[in-house]
Amino acid sequence: MFASRGISSVRETIQPVLEKPHFKRWVGVHLLFWRDRVTPRLIYLETFGCQMNEHDSEKILEILGAKYYRTTGKIHEADVILINTCTVREKPEHKVYSTLGRLRKLKQKRREMIIGVGGCLAQQEGERLFAKFPHLDLVFGTHNLHLLPTLLADIQRTGNQRCETCFYDRAPSMDLVPLVENKVRSYVTIMQGCDNFCSYCIVPSVRGPERSRPMAEILEEVRILAHRGSKEVILLGQNVNSYGKGLNGEASFPALLRGVNRVKGIERIRFTTSHPKDLSQDLITSFRDLPKLCEHIHLPFQSGSNSILHLMNRVYTREGYLAKIDRLRAVCPSIAITADVLVGFPGESQKDFEDTLDLIERVQFDNLFSFRYSKRKGSSASDLPEQIPDEIKRERLTVLQEVQKKITRRKNREMEGRREWVLVEGRSQKNPMEIMGRTRSNRIVNFPGGIDLIGKTVVVKIEKGFANSLRGVLRQDGAMPGDAQIIGQA
Ligand code: SAM
Ligand code: SF4
Repeated sequence: MFASRGISSVRETIQPVLEKPHFKRWVGVHLLFWRDRVTPRLIYLETFGCQMNEHDSEKILEILGAKYYRTTGKIHEADVILINTCTVREKPEHKVYSTLGRLRKLKQKRREMIIGVGGCLAQQEGERLFAKFPHLDLVFGTHNLHLLPTLLADIQRTGNQRCETCFYDRAPSMDLVPLVENKVRSYVTIMQGCDNFCSYCIVPSVRGPERSRPMAEILEEVRILAHRGSKEVILLGQNVNSYGKGLNGEASFPALLRGVNRVKGIERIRFTTSHPKDLSQDLITSFRDLPKLCEHIHLPFQSGSNSILHLMNRVYTREGYLAKIDRLRAVCPSIAITADVLVGFPGESQKDFEDTLDLIERVQFDNLFSFRYSKRKGSSASDLPEQIPDEIKRERLTVLQEVQKKITRRKNREMEGRREWVLVEGRSQKNPMEIMGRTRSNRIVNFPGGIDLIGKTVVVKIEKGFANSLRGVLRQDGAMPGDAQIIGQA
């Protein structure tokens, strides 16, 4: 029939169909579908902040990877730029703002490029970020990672800005296992959020209330990771010691550790972060009883002054903290202890600061992460009187860091001549011809060796202790008990 009426009449017949909006949409969707398979969209992802953010970034790449996005290290060739942000302190927040500002020029050159901001700052600021940075296309909160493919597709189709920052009871991305093969150390989320409300801290308002993952799910994830080649797992939560709250049954953090200790193929277990108020005797004795649990605890104390600890709402005293350190060392004398500490909290007197220095001298930490207190909008300490001038905060931080530097150096030097089990992680950053790994106490060791050792636990004799790392030499003479130079599966 068409043949007899000629080409023009065919065009007349199908033209109205082609003009129909749903047909145009159908074609658009299918073109995108095939284009994404033939030429994947390139994503450039930059991460600020802690291990939780690093792990969220792994999850973002997993979610988008399943939708045919591929990563690029070249920002100029990216179709999508995502910035995963941190707002815990002023300094990282300023860094994020200047990064976002710099992206304006890039967007002017390539209007089709999508720029998105996620993480804690996105959660806190939401749509206000569009007013500050009109070149942004997307703002997504800490519980909204799973929505990324839909949000990006929507922006691509409509050109509209999108903002999603709603909280879920349990963030859907909490259970996601990033599919990284042969990763020697892997993060495992065991809980989300925090219920503690330390008065200086913004985390509870940007990460939501504390929720624990069921133990069976976590153990299944650890088994999958072991199967894919991971040798070490780092269990992540803002306060891992209170893991299990709200779950039915026998779930507790020490019980979870015992479960992970039984997973075949996993050789080392670490966790972060612990709150001193919830550090139970059961957890302390786990360092003696669980062979895979590394002899290292990160136990932030924040201040050595009882009145400041009270104002911080930390719910322990310096005496209580010191007593817990004694109990840890009594069951595990070789345990390495690291911590976080703040200087310049509102009202901190010279005497309070000296109490902090005194606590540092008493404990002799293996390392410390020390920060100047910064006022966080929405945290209760931001309303406290007697904010400390910046100059004093800087001076105190310098003094504190000098004290700790000496202790760390001395402790690292004391390692010289010792033989250590080292799990090899990869090439050394200092010298790509060498390899690096960590001792059980979490010290980085650089030493000559082949990349065939990556993922193996080897014996290294420590030759030199520096400020931030150790240098050693591989021992292949069976010098370690058990006659093993390379330890296989645990
Ligand atoms: N949940 C962990 C805990 O309780 O130890 C740590 C959470 S926070 C992301 C990491 C560290 O940032 C804290 O231990 C604290 O020392 C520091 N921090 C938090 N709020 C801060 C603020 N307003 N100013 C400076 N440092 C801060
Ligand atoms: Fe912040 Fe305190 Fe919660 Fe740690 S325990 S995340 S410092 S509120």
